[in-house]
Amino acid sequence: MKNVLITGAAGFLGSHLCDRFIKEGYYVIGMDNYITGDKRNLEHLQSHTNFECIEHDVTKHISIDKHLDYILHFASPASPIDYLKIPIQTLKVGSLGTHNLLGLAKAKKARLLIASTSEVYGDPLVHPQTEDYYGNVNTIGPRGVYDEAKRFQESITMAYHRFHGLETRIVRIFNTYGPRMRLNDGRVIPAFMGQALRGEDLTVFGDGSQTRSFCYVDDQVEGIYRLLLSDYAYPVNIGNPNEISIRDFAEEIIKLTNTSQKVIYKDLPVDDPMQRQPDISLAKKILNWEPKVNREEGMKTTFEYFKGLSQEDLFKREH
Ligand code: NAD
Ligand code: UDP
Repeated sequence: MKNVLITGAAGFLGSHLCDRFIKEGYYVIGMDNYITGDKRNLEHLQSHTNFECIEHDVTKHISIDKHLDYILHFASPASPIDYLKIPIQTLKVGSLGTHNLLGLAKAKKARLLIASTSEVYGDPLVHPQTEDYYGNVNTIGPRGVYDEAKRFQESITMAYHRFHGLETRIVRIFNTYGPRMRLNDGRVIPAFMGQALRGEDLTVFGDGSQTRSFCYVDDQVEGIYRLLLSDYAYPVNIGNPNEISIRDFAEEIIKLTNTSQKVIYKDLPVDDPMQRQPDISLAKKILNWEPKVNREEGMKTTFEYFKGLSQEDLFKREH
């Protein structure tokens, strides 16, 4: 049986990856310090014989007794309000944490896949974003803690690949959504859906002309799985190219949730990227991958999930 270590296992993407690898017949070791994750995301796996979860901060030395075939490093705060609240931990998990996992992968002769992000492109001047675009990041701005941690993560990963011959994979993830997102993590989909459910107006930041392209979690997991098993060591964009402005998206959510609330406008956060759309030609070519779930279908499933949460979760405030 193949063993896989997944860091950030109690988070949104990490927990879906655990499900996928269990389904594929792997022994899955999850690791998380629960700083932004939720133990409930893994509750359904706790009694599974092929699953264990270790509570550990990956910025501290990591020791695993079992052999490892694959490591997926997904631990990191991922929403703007999270990484603005814990900026130093964000820099450490991308740098020290990645260094620890590279060392572990080298010792175990395992293949390591790291979760990078469209944020490495910053506020992009090239549209849509291709993997060969170097990006436009403000290193000293508030978002810099996340963007630069991820850029360093890519650099040190390529250095281990080139210098030590380690097998590495880099996925550049574009905005992904679905069940198990934290309702109050401040990202736009849980924010709008939470507001609709609480009977509050939907807060659009800036004039709402900025764009994003939203990928459903099952499509994202499929892309990551294929990339891990491929022989391609350079970064690959995984996301859904269907782009929409945040203003139009708010209107879509109002229709979907059937709320009588309206849109209100608030200040645009510093360095909020104005446009984002993945060019997925590379993923199509080398992974034979493209997203299958359209936004209407994915948003419906996600809204059903949020509707099922308790009143306590719905009204829990984090910011
Ligand atoms: P999430 O916050 O739901 O999950 C992150 C998990 O990492 C949490 O469970 C958290 O407790 C854990 N974690 C954080 N620091 C840790 C540490 N030092 N040690 C151990 N565990 C730690 O976020 P997510 O959306 O699931 O994102 C997962 C990964 O994917 C992140 O690396 C993120 O940068 C990347 N990513 C996500 C998206 C997206 O749209 N969801 C986009 C781009 C990149
Ligand atoms: N956004 C918004 N209202 C909210 C939350 C977010 O208008 O209540 C905007 C945000 O300014 C950004 C977009 O939605 O332009 C996506 O934000 P998110 O935090 O989901 O992702 P990211 O900016 O990291 O792509």
